[in-house]
Amino acid sequence: MSDTNSNSNTEHVKCLIIGSGPAGYTAAIYAARADMKPVMYQGLQPGGQLTITTEVENFPGYPDGANGPEMMVDFEKQAKRFGTDVRFGMATEVDFTGPIHKVIIDGNKTITADSIIIATGASAKWLGLESEQRLNGFGVSACAVCDGFFFKGQEVAIVGGGDTAAEEASYLAKLCSKVTMLVRKDELRASKAMQHRVLNTPNIEVLFNHETKEVLGDKGVEGVRVYDNLKGEEKVIPVTGFFVAIGHKPNTDIFKGWLEMDNVGYLKVIPGTSKTNIEGVFASGDAADKIYRQAVTAAGTGCMAALDAERYLAEKGIH
Ligand SMILES: Cc1cc2nc3c(=O)[nH]c(=O)nc-3n(C[C@H](O)[C@H](O)[C@H](O)COP(=O)(O)OP(=O)(O)OC[C@H]3O[C@@H](n4cnc5c(N)ncnc54)[C@H](O)[C@@H]3O)c2cc1C
Repeated sequence: MSDTNSNSNTEHVKCLIIGSGPAGYTAAIYAARADMKPVMYQGLQPGGQLTITTEVENFPGYPDGANGPEMMVDFEKQAKRFGTDVRFGMATEVDFTGPIHKVIIDGNKTITADSIIIATGASAKWLGLESEQRLNGFGVSACAVCDGFFFKGQEVAIVGGGDTAAEEASYLAKLCSKVTMLVRKDELRASKAMQHRVLNTPNIEVLFNHETKEVLGDKGVEGVRVYDNLKGEEKVIPVTGFFVAIGHKPNTDIFKGWLEMDNVGYLKVIPGTSKTNIEGVFASGDAADKIYRQAVTAAGTGCMAALDAERYLAEKGIH
């Protein structure tokens, strides 16, 4: 697949893909079919975020929906079918000083690459409650657009006070009979326009100064136990869905100092492309997308990254 034995400590590849979610696998399918001999490192979560969800109903081509982990196995099979070299391992350090980029894998192996596709995704932030993790995927979700549909006509709660929480609450209000928004402070951090929308939606109730103590339920969500930090009282709100919207963290720490990113860590690309500020390094998926964060958009930008990389290699006469 590559210029040297993959077991040796230094290896040169034409196209290195970092991350194995929908963006990484889509990039791999395109890069492999273009004979770029891509090598992919999967990271700690082979298959990416969709491996921790049950039903995916909005990915085109699956009319009956799909189970998240099974869908990602399909992605992997398709990428391997065209020869992608898929490996376990984590990129732990990068050096983009020269035209040949260096990536250290698991702290001990050096990959040099003519082109790199970053598809390291993002991770939702959680409250850190045991009950929240136990019921994750069984009524607890960090994505209203992904999972709101499952709670049509039901009462749900959402925690968070920023723009994402306000937007997701508005989205849920169109599907659910009631949305209780739990805000820890006495005000929303969301923009004035979003605040106005939330506060004027009849089926959204905003509870300020409320902290989530526990998500209740055994096999599914039955309610949420909250603490009113003004009155010093606890109460239970009966809901069947619990959404966490307290932010995401893009998995881009290793690129700090090399690639341009916003203040949260989302990689910056030249609009309409996947090109970063470093020639030959392309970014795709949630790592470079703070707005849409969907599997299909990640796959779309993964495709863009592979096509951009292919053109770059062709221009350089490498491919
Ligand atoms: C619970 C849940 C349910 C969801 N449901 C839906 C849904 O129904 N429909 C939908 O469209 N979207 C859904 N989403 C969102 C969707 O999963 C993401 O938008 C999508 O997975 C992003 O794809 P990605 O390829 O950018 O990154 P991810 O899926 O986040 O994958 C990132 C990959 O990068 C790897 N990685 C990270 N750092 C490194 C490193 N240093 N070295 C090597 N590898 C690394 C990880 O191991 C992982 O394989 C859901 C998300 C969650 C959390």
